[in-house]
Amino acid sequence: MVKAVVGANWGDEGKGKITDMLAREADIIVRFQGGANAGHTIVNDYGKFALHTLPSGVFYDHTTSVIGNGVALDIPKLVAEINSIVEGGVPKPKIKVSDRAQIVMSYHKLFDEYEEARLAGKSFGSTKSGIAPFYSDKFAKIGFQVNELFDEALLKEKVKRVVELKNVMLKNLYHKPEIKEADLLAELLEYRDIIEPYVDDVSAFLYDAIQNGKNILLEGQLGSLKDPDHGIYPMVTSSSTLAGYGAVGAGIPPYEIKEIVTVCKAYSSAVGAGAFVSEIFGDEADELRNRGGDGGEYGATTGRPRRMGWFDCVASKYGCRIQGTTAVAFTVLDVLGYLDEIPVCVGYEIDGKVYTDFPTTSLLEKAKPVLEVLPGWKSDITGIRNYDDLPGNCRNYIEFIEEKIGFPIKMVSNGPSRDDIIYRD
Ligand code: GDP
Repeated sequence: MVKAVVGANWGDEGKGKITDMLAREADIIVRFQGGANAGHTIVNDYGKFALHTLPSGVFYDHTTSVIGNGVALDIPKLVAEINSIVEGGVPKPKIKVSDRAQIVMSYHKLFDEYEEARLAGKSFGSTKSGIAPFYSDKFAKIGFQVNELFDEALLKEKVKRVVELKNVMLKNLYHKPEIKEADLLAELLEYRDIIEPYVDDVSAFLYDAIQNGKNILLEGQLGSLKDPDHGIYPMVTSSSTLAGYGAVGAGIPPYEIKEIVTVCKAYSSAVGAGAFVSEIFGDEADELRNRGGDGGEYGATTGRPRRMGWFDCVASKYGCRIQGTTAVAFTVLDVLGYLDEIPVCVGYEIDGKVYTDFPTTSLLEKAKPVLEVLPGWKSDITGIRNYDDLPGNCRNYIEFIEEKIGFPIKMVSNGPSRDDIIYRD
């Protein structure tokens, strides 16, 4: 059975924790998109880890971790991550990397950095991990697939083509040092030697696993609103963040994805630029940011402070719908226990009219939040395991949001660790 764990919002919803928790019952966990640009923070018996490329199930010794063809594979970062978790006392994980995954090259990171600098005040707020240049090259058909590392003649020919193209940009647009064929080839051969032990025909492996009734989790990065098609384009990421893409990015039949767990945070946070209708500022934002997540809402990859906002029913309803949600996991609810009253964004006012359907980006820029204020519960709910034991105002908050978004909240996360979870029937 294949289950996807994906985000409803702008990312950082707590997918890592939910995946890590669900991985207890899983045999295989697959990353199917994105790269080392975002991160998950996982707290478990071994300690606290920031993962960027490895799937969150990597901490169990019964699971196999898979990097699917849809991922932007940063080989040095992957290996550094494997080493760091092994050094942290975690048993050496079983890892398979798709022979069709493409490789993030050093020049992708340079181009990312140069382009952000060129755009200056109009930049996208990239993490400079090379993701946008990487996916551009993939679709321009000048990327390197893992299997190509093992064909030196092909590499030499392709390196020549790539260098020719890249140097035009480096020289004329960015006025930066050009790249040399020999250096690029050496980089690729180094990657070949590092990645070789992990390379496999992942879609064939997953096909067999499905035939044999294994439990497979697809782990998404970021959330619906960062999807290049359905998100807040152009302030989006460069690969699809949707469960539907899980089929493509892992190489499995779409109809095998039976459950879609969409992770939705009990308040909003976002990184990078772009419209963020329910955003809050000043002391109100600082307090939520510092209390948020586990140790504050700061990027797992960059350490950047996240933008903060109240829960957005309009964005979350859309975010859940576009994922094809079968169950919502509602996370980080414990953090709101300090508030007397909790504003919730229930509509967008655009040119004097109120909308509850998420608009396209050009309209979104004009939207003002319509807020409804709910009473807080003023207590610490961590440690509670039964839904009925939650304070009335807390249940009221959950049920109010469930009704507004129109998808069932089946799990409530009330703390960062694996056991901080309340199931609802
Ligand atoms: P992801 O990218 O969607 O996996 O999200 P992140 O890992 O970036 O952000 C989630 C943060 O919230 C992490 O620091 C988690 O440890 C933490 N977290 C997840 N669920 C909960 C929760 O229910 N309560 C609290 N307090 N923290 C949580």
